[in-house]
Amino acid sequence: MDRASRVLVLGAHPDDAEFFAGGLLHEHKKRGSEIQLVSVTNGQSGHHEMSSDALVARRRAEAQQAGSVLGCPYVCWDFPDGYLEPSIAVREAIIRQIRAFEPDLVLTHRPWDYHPDHRAVGQAVQDASYMVMVPKVAPGYRIPSREPVVAYMVDLFTRPSAFRADFTLDATEHLEGILRMLQCHRSQFAEWIPWIERLGPVPTAPGEWSSWLKDFFLERTAARAQRFWSRDWGPSPTIVEAYEVSEYAGRLSPERQAGLFPACRSSS
Ligand SMILES: [Zn+2]
Repeated sequence: MDRASRVLVLGAHPDDAEFFAGGLLHEHKKRGSEIQLVSVTNGQSGHHEMSSDALVARRRAEAQQAGSVLGCPYVCWDFPDGYLEPSIAVREAIIRQIRAFEPDLVLTHRPWDYHPDHRAVGQAVQDASYMVMVPKVAPGYRIPSREPVVAYMVDLFTRPSAFRADFTLDATEHLEGILRMLQCHRSQFAEWIPWIERLGPVPTAPGEWSSWLKDFFLERTAARAQRFWSRDWGPSPTIVEAYEVSEYAGRLSPERQAGLFPACRSSS
């Protein structure tokens, strides 16, 4: 039998992993996969009132708490939020992380996205995908026995090319788990996002805020179902996630599909 899968998420910010891939992560947890969540930036820019130093500490703590919902580490690297470039330093950090953890699957953003940090992470992962097997690049770590498969987390952008959903997941049964993770990011979902998006006053009582957050998340994810859920599969689920496999990393053989994308529908 194949070993349990190892899943690494390289998101740009603390909260990207669960916002875009919380359902698949919970599916992996159910199956005993090893999971590691990384925010490549330190989250220092996502607030309108707090100092960056205080915010970095707070977001680290929030991420750690979100990781504990899944029972996995959730670390924030030191690259500054809002200033990320697909630099050699970022590429090396990703290469080292992949060699140290040896994931079977890496989830990240596409190099096309509204947020420059998301684009930079996607580009840096693409740049690292071949170099991870080159011993003389970022030496000192064991080279993995095989290249991980890289898949992009869902987005709705269309230029220069629209997201291609190779795997689609009805993540509705994991809604509560995803919300429990998102609830850890109070600095974001109770303070920053309502401010930057001019959403108006957000209820502060814990129960009311949780229900506000649920409505917010459902509203943000509704378009995913519309775009990526085929009518042939039956009625549209409440929560849909989609994944596009990168052509620049390890090849996804048919035997590995079920292990890496459990419970997902394949478009091929
Ligand atoms: Zn982000």
